[in-house]
Amino acid sequence: TPVLRLRGVRKSYGDTVVTEVLHGIDLDIAAGAMTALVGPSGSGKSTLLNLLGLLDRPTAGSIQLQGRETTDLDDAALTELRGRSLGFVFQFHHLLPAFTARENVLLPLHARRGRLDRALWDRAGALLGRMGLRGEIDRLASQLSGGQQQRVAIARALLHDPGLVLADEPTGNLDTVTGREVFDLMRDLNRERGTAFLVVTHDPGLAALCERTIELVDGRVHL
Ligand code: ADP
Ligand code: ADP
Repeated sequence: TPVLRLRGVRKSYGDTVVTEVLHGIDLDIAAGAMTALVGPSGSGKSTLLNLLGLLDRPTAGSIQLQGRETTDLDDAALTELRGRSLGFVFQFHHLLPAFTARENVLLPLHARRGRLDRALWDRAGALLGRMGLRGEIDRLASQLSGGQQQRVAIARALLHDPGLVLADEPTGNLDTVTGREVFDLMRDLNRERGTAFLVVTHDPGLAALCERTIELVDGRVHL
């Protein structure tokens, strides 16, 4: 089963003047794979990513996450499914500067579950160690470099062991060398853990390192 399966997905914006932005997307995102999403500005990448992340609903069509239809779920069920099965990494890491690296990794899960246990605390530390941040675990996010902060954000996305991580230009705010290091780390984690990644990127060099590239042009998948 693919981790995500889209069939005939359409998305329109507007009430009086309706503009269709995605025109019938059929797409399978393979479990355990690294997939790049590319396309010119305005082609619908952000719109598609919001649908894949269950952050917005399609106007028509089917979206299955790990074999389960999502379009008939209510908002609470979508939120629950998103929290359990998906991870998110953004161009800007959205870390809380006055909290430590480990606290930042733990915060979303703490907020969702309302409690933390020792095992999670240890797991956050181990993940940060895997990210090359063993010495930074208890440092404030504000004291870390841009590349270190983005690695904390990746650890945060992985803490609950999601099947798919959606990464929106995760290296877009980093210099070339640091961006490549962060990308290579995601590639290694993908291979080690079997976590699927969908990475939006403008960098053809990074897309070439993925198993598959999906190109969006004018709201359609370009084959
Ligand atoms: P990107 O840099 O990812 O291409 P955009 O500049 O296209 O982003 O859009 C940034 C955000 O603004 C997106 O989340 C999108 O949903 C929203 N947006 C884009 N175009 C419009 C619009 N015409 N009306 C309202 N919101 C828009
Ligand atoms: P990309 O991320 O590839 O730049 P987007 O998904 O941001 O593309 O935008 C695709 C098209 O949809 C653009 O024409 C944009 O203006 C439009 N759009 C995006 N979000 C909205 C929105 N919330 N309301 C109206 N139009 C939007």
